[in-house]
Amino acid sequence: MPDLEAPEMLTEEKWEAIVHNDESYDFKFFYAVKSTGIFCRPSCKSKVPNRENVRIFRNAEQAIREEFRPCKRCKPTGERLPDREWVEVMTQYMDQNFAEPLSLTELAEVCHGSPYHLHRTFKKVMHMTPAEYMQNIRIGKAKDYLRNTGKTAAEIGMLVGFQHTSYFITVFKKMTGVTPTEYRQQRVEEGNEDGGA
Ligand SMILES: [Zn+2]
Repeated sequence: MPDLEAPEMLTEEKWEAIVHNDESYDFKFFYAVKSTGIFCRPSCKSKVPNRENVRIFRNAEQAIREEFRPCKRCKPTGERLPDREWVEVMTQYMDQNFAEPLSLTELAEVCHGSPYHLHRTFKKVMHMTPAEYMQNIRIGKAKDYLRNTGKTAAEIGMLVGFQHTSYFITVFKKMTGVTPTEYRQQRVEEGNEDGGA
């Protein structure tokens, strides 16, 4: 008797079907991508994932049980993914990848939609653009580093995804009203006051 709970293998045949968007495999299996949390039909036109991130499921229910979400583009359950859930896919991805350069086009690729549609849906649900969301995460992380480490502004800028220190400082000041150095100095002074000297 076959073990029904055993994980499906990503065979060469299935991998070829994914790479070539082969419709004849639709509903014979589904594939999920661990790095994005999305699952698709083999025929999905989205970007070919990294092979090591792929998981195979016999049916959509299994994928959903493992907390993967249906792709917006190929609709593996036949139903449309609600906007709010789609936006969660985007925010999760940005929360995990804030340190890397990320364009709207790349985000749209990993989240399986057009850049225009993604941008519009994100703004409708979050009342800010994906770029603004990303900057909020980056500046929030930068504040953590300034408070809790002795790293320089240049080092922190790099760690939170800014390639150029001057741009990091500009964005930081725009969002907080102070430069990274001033921010750190303020926290040190607050710390001294708290100490009740
Ligand atoms: Zn898909």
